Amino acid sequence: MPEMPEVQAHAERLTESFGGAVLDRFTALTFTALKTASPPPEAAYGSPLERVGRRGKHLLLHFAPATFVVHLMQGGRLKPDEKQTARPRGGQARWRFADGGALLLTEAGTERRAGVWVVAGDPDGQPPLDHLGPEADQLDRATLAELLAEHPMRLHGWLRDQRIVTGMGRRLANEICHRARLSPFAGTAKLDDDAVDRLHEAIGACIAESLADERKRKDMSSSKERPGAVHHREGQACPVCGDDIRAVEYRSYTVNYCPTCQTGGKVLADNTTSKFLK
Ligand SMILES: [Zn+2]
Repeated sequence: MPEMPEVQAHAERLTESFGGAVLDRFTALTFTALKTASPPPEAAYGSPLERVGRRGKHLLLHFAPATFVVHLMQGGRLKPDEKQTARPRGGQARWRFADGGALLLTEAGTERRAGVWVVAGDPDGQPPLDHLGPEADQLDRATLAELLAEHPMRLHGWLRDQRIVTGMGRRLANEICHRARLSPFAGTAKLDDDAVDRLHEAIGACIAESLADERKRKDMSSSKERPGAVHHREGQACPVCGDDIRAVEYRSYTVNYCPTCQTGGKVLADNTTSKFLK
């Protein structure tokens, strides 16, 4: 799934290409694409796109009367629509502009979880953004320490919980734990001051590195292209210590880590009942 750096760089590219374009028409191409009834998309017709912003992993198409909030989920993409065919493959929604250009939201696969919300006023605090915590790259150290103590859980899950801190997913969680030299299964309420320092540095550095890489691209990267030390690198050598990168598999995601850097050399068994995971 695209995380904050991918979505942020993409928002900047879309602002560059589509900023100022006047909205002519919005079309939902499936029954499930548009998640809201009021205000109607028509509210923004005739208004220029002020900019494309971001909150968490959501793209925000800001027009003065209304904002379109777009969640790409796993397989969604929002791209210039060159062909504007009647039934584009995976098509979910289309924004057509008065200058003839268009943006197309597509979703690969059959899950149909990507969607569009139209909101009036400040989108923050309104669905689907109302449950989101602070932005991961905006956290100062004191706030990070408070949020870790307030939500005792395993670190990897904490980093991915958008209600606590928003913008990070599976890849950043893997990379941040590695950079901070912390076990993905460390308890967040038990981290000492030094660990919180390292975690704070790692969150900022991993996001900044990914964002810098993503800003060099013409389109959102695929997950294999993204930089990193451990994510999807099972069996490869840790770039810090040379140990083998290991994996713990879950149904829908994989935790990657380096035993020497992160778990005192302990190899975590590949199931959630392992005593090492408790
Ligand atoms: Zn290592």
